[in-house]
Amino acid sequence: MHDKMALRIVQNGLITLKDCVVEEKDRLEHANSFKDTAKVLRMTRAGVAWLAVGCARGAYENALQYTTKRKQFGKPIASFQLIQNHLVEMLSNLTAMQTMVYRLSELQDLGQLQDEHASIAKVFCSLRTRDVVSRAREVMGGNGILLEYNVARFVADAEAIYSYEGTKEINSLIVGRAITGFSAFV
Ligand SMILES: Cc1cc2nc3c(=O)[nH]c(=O)nc-3n(C[C@H](O)[C@H](O)[C@H](O)COP(=O)(O)OP(=O)(O)OC[C@H]3O[C@@H](n4cnc5c(N)ncnc54)[C@H](O)[C@@H]3O)c2cc1C
Repeated sequence: MHDKMALRIVQNGLITLKDCVVEEKDRLEHANSFKDTAKVLRMTRAGVAWLAVGCARGAYENALQYTTKRKQFGKPIASFQLIQNHLVEMLSNLTAMQTMVYRLSELQDLGQLQDEHASIAKVFCSLRTRDVVSRAREVMGGNGILLEYNVARFVADAEAIYSYEGTKEINSLIVGRAITGFSAFV
């Protein structure tokens, strides 16, 4: 697939399987149903939650550095109250995300990771990342849309992270099912 606006380094392709028969000898061990595929998604979703954190951290660090150097009205813009408010919101989001994914990995190490854990982290982190990258872009003014300042790339990547490995809606339904006992899928 060409002309993607985000995650351009990731090679994506649409694979269509038609009249495809897989012989028993070629079947992956332990792959019996979609439930087994879901086990893989559980792990990769947790990884995408971490990816969101990395994206947010990159945007925050670039924005912080920029605001301490950029001067307006004779002062670094980082000395203005409203800019500091953005930086604090970014760091708060980032800290909450980091705490969540750290716990996610602890659960993984303990062998207790469930679908809903990975889903809630993926939803939360990708939502918060959108907020962080948007603030980072904002405090950089016009330079925020230039690729050379890095933040524009994080803004674009946050959009892909938001949708892949399960959208916010679908991951929310997984968590909703776990906490209520009712499946809204059917
Ligand atoms: C960078 C990138 C990498 C990807 N890598 C892979 C990969 O390796 N393997 C792979 O198989 N796929 C991959 N995908 C595809 C990705 O998983 C899908 O794009 C994603 O799951 C959303 O599916 P869709 O695009 O078909 O959207 P749709 O299913 O058409 O959804 C559109 C909108 O409708 C909402 N929606 C759909 N159904 C419901 C419902 N029942 N209730 C409420 N809302 C609903 C969705 O949440 C979304 O907001 C990748 C996508 C990207 C962008």
